[in-house]
This record gives sequence, structure tokens and C-alpha cells, in this order.
Amino acid sequence: MAARLIDGKALALHVREGLAKDSTALLAQTGVKPGLATIIVGDDPASHLYVKNKQKACDAAGIYIDDHKLPAGTTQSDLLALIEKKNADSNIHGILVQLPLPKHIDSKVILDAVSPQKDADGFHPYNFGRLVEGHPVFEACTPKGVIKMIESTGVPIEGKRAVVLGRSNIVGKPLALMLLQRHATVTICHSKTVDLPAVCREAELLLVAIGKARFVTADMVREGAVVIDVGTNRLPDGKVVGDVDFEPVSQKAGWISPVPGGVGPMTIAMLLHNTVESAKRIAGWK
Ligand code: NAP
Repeated sequence: MAARLIDGKALALHVREGLAKDSTALLAQTGVKPGLATIIVGDDPASHLYVKNKQKACDAAGIYIDDHKLPAGTTQSDLLALIEKKNADSNIHGILVQLPLPKHIDSKVILDAVSPQKDADGFHPYNFGRLVEGHPVFEACTPKGVIKMIESTGVPIEGKRAVVLGRSNIVGKPLALMLLQRHATVTICHSKTVDLPAVCREAELLLVAIGKARFVTADMVREGAVVIDVGTNRLPDGKVVGDVDFEPVSQKAGWISPVPGGVGPMTIAMLLHNTVESAKRIAGWK
């Protein structure tokens, strides 16, 4: 069979249009404009491009951007001081610290310093804990985007066999918890999983986030499965591909997401979503 495409770009546009309407209504009714502080340290061109894309999307969705570009030599205590300032700033409803940070700064200390009430990335231990107990507030953007992509297919999550490849704190683990919360039967795989292909073949929902180009081949996929590819891998020729061998797998899956144009745009849309929801919560609206 030829799989149907889960178009992350189109879905993200739809989400962002909805958010733009919400932002306009929030501003009109409460005077509150959702605000996102973006903090980037150093000169990494890829990180600057990611932040620029996020800012562009925010602008179109009626979100105010408070932009901070800091030199590579910024000290950890200076960065902590800026975060404290943004935590206390009533115009700011979300704080994004772009990773990776320079080596002399401890990312964990920095991410833990972001107020859990403004944790638009959903990385703070408080928000991770809320997800574990089944009462999430801010959910991490990439896994949340994956859930929206599954939901867009109309395939119910409840009761499905879901296999998550990868157990990172930013993708695999929170995604597994989000699926569990929606009543899937979830297996998490990692580099020590024995007979990975056999486990993958059980999956009605196969969610892949390992960072290995075209790792998942057609023989690892169950006929008709929903396959979502989080992986972003740059080949030596500059081409960007996912963790799934797209062409052959799309002959077997029921639904499949592409790379690029799949999870990436949805991650940005979910950052905007978290910021607007935060502004609504803080304003006590709806
Ligand atoms: P990560 O922190 O490097 O984690 C990778 C996970 O994959 C680990 O749990 C690792 O297992 C597992 N793994 C690696 N090789 C494996 C193998 N051969 N078999 C089974 N499991 C294996 O990666 P991440 O941050 O979750 O990111 C994963 C991918 O998603 C990357 O390509 C990244 O660029 C992409 N990504 C995309 C977005 C987006 O918005 N599009 C966002 C985030 C990440 P162990 O734990 O045993 O080491």
C-alpha cells in the first residue's frame, strides 16, 4: 500500500492560524499580548536560524518577541540573572533558552532556573513531573507536536500498540508518557533493546527519534502502521533526512510523516501554542 502523508507543514500552519485568532481575542478582551523571551548565547549559525524561524512564526501569530542575543563569553551567573529578570517580567509568558549552550554553562542549571509557569519548552523538572503524574501543564514541544500529528490522521491512540524509538528527556520519554496518558500500550526502545526490528513490527504507532539516518527500514514496519519520524540528519551531501527510510517504508505504512516538512514545523507551532496558553492562564482567560 502507499501510505498517506502527514503534512506537518500544513498542520502547523493551521495551528498557527488558530493561535493568531486566539492572540487577537486575548488582546482585545484583556489587554494582554502573549510574550516570548528568546535567549541565545554564542554565534552558532544553526541556532540563530532556529531562533529566527521561531521569532518569525511568533510575529505572525501575534506574539511579542523579547529578543536576547548574548556573546559566547557570557557567564552562567549573567545568564541566570537575565532569566530571573524574565521570570519576573509580567509582559513575558514564555521563556526560550536555545540549546546547545556554550560548554562553560551548565544547561541543566539554566533550564531549571526558568520559572515553571513560563517554561514554554516544557523542559523544567516540575513540568516533566506533572506529565509523569498525568496532569501536564507545559508539555515539551516536539512530542506534543507528534501527538497532534497522530491525532490529525483520525487513527485513535487509545488501545493501540505504540513503540517509541529513543528515550531522550526531550523527545522519547515525554512522548511515551503522552501516549500512555492517551491509553496506548507503550514500549520504549533504545540502544540496548534486543531484537529491535521484532519490537518495531508490533507497532501500530511507530514513533522514531534516535538521530540515525534512514535507520528504520520497511522490514521493521507493520503493514498499515502510523509512522512518525522525528529524526533530523544531515548527510555528507547536505541533504536532510529522517531516521526512517522514507520511500520503502511509505509502501508499507498506512500514514507517514516526511523529513523535512514533518515534525520540525510542528515543534515550532507547539512552542507558540504553549506561549499563548500560558498568556491565557496568567490572564485568567477562558
Ligand atoms: P538523543 O538525545 O541523542 O537520543 C537518542 C536516543 O536514541 C537515545 O535514547 C538512544 O539510546 C537511542 N538510540 C540511538 N541509537 C540507537 C539504535 N541504534 N537503536 C535504538 N536506539 C538508539 O536524541 P534526541 O534529542 O531525542 O533526538 C533524536 C533525533 O530527533 C535527532 O535526529 C534530533 O535531531 C531529532 N530532533 C528533531 C526535533 C524536531 O523538532 N524536528 C526536535 C528534537 C530532536 P540510548 O539512550 O540507549 O543511548
